[in-house]
Amino acid sequence: MKKIILFASVIGMVGTIFLQSTEAITKPEPQKTICIDAGHQKKQNLQTEPVAPGSKVKKAKVSAGTRGVATKKYEYELNLEVALQLQKALEKKNYKVIMTRMKHDVNLSNIDRATICNNAKSALSIRIHADGSTNKNTQGLSLLYPSGTSTKSINKVSESIAKTLLTESILTTKAKKGYGDGLLPRSDLTGFNWSKTPVVLIEMGFMSNSTEDKRLSTKSYQQSIVNGLVNGIVKSVQ
Ligand SMILES: [Zn+2]
Repeated sequence: MKKIILFASVIGMVGTIFLQSTEAITKPEPQKTICIDAGHQKKQNLQTEPVAPGSKVKKAKVSAGTRGVATKKYEYELNLEVALQLQKALEKKNYKVIMTRMKHDVNLSNIDRATICNNAKSALSIRIHADGSTNKNTQGLSLLYPSGTSTKSINKVSESIAKTLLTESILTTKAKKGYGDGLLPRSDLTGFNWSKTPVVLIEMGFMSNSTEDKRLSTKSYQQSIVNGLVNGIVKSVQ
C-alpha cells in the first residue's frame, strides 16, 4: 500500500511540475512599453497648435531647439543619438520600445508625438532634450514633469518617476542638477499636456556651456545618461 501511495504522489509531483512549466511557457510576463521621443527635428515647424486640449493658447508645432557652442551639433542630432542608445538598452531589458522618430527629416508636431505614445499605451513616455541658455556658465541635468490641468491623472505618477530618473541619472553621470534641485513641473508644454500616459522630459545638459556640450557628445557620457535612465525606469515604472 505504501508503495502505491508513494507512486501516486510521485506522479502527482511530476504532473504539477509539468503544469507549472507549461504555464510559464504559455504565460510570459507582459512586456512594458516605453515610448521614446527624440526632441525636435531637422526643420522646425512654426505653424501652431493648441498647447492643451481645448486651449485657445497656441504654440509652434515643433521649435528648432538649441545647438552646441563648441561641437556645433544641433540638439535634434544629439537627442536622437541618445534616444537610439536608450532604445537598445531598454530592449535588452525586455521592454517594448516605441520611437516617435528614427531619423531627422520628419514632420512631427508635439501633439503628433504625444499621440504616438498615447496610442502605444506606453507605461512611460520619455522625451529626450538638451538645454540652452544665454548664460554660458549655466550647467546641469534636469527632469521635467507635467503639472497642468489636462494631465491631472498622470501628474503625480510622472513626478514620482521624474524624481527616480533624476536620482539615478545624477548617480551615473555625476552631473550637476540643473535649476537648483533638478526637477521642474511644467504646465506649458504641448508634448506634456496632450499626454494620456505618464511622461517625463530629460534635459541632459546645456549645449550653451562649452564643457557640458563637449561632454554630451562623448559616447561614454551618453552611455552614462542611458544607464541612469534605464536604472530609474527599472525602479519606477509599474
Ligand atoms: Zn529641446
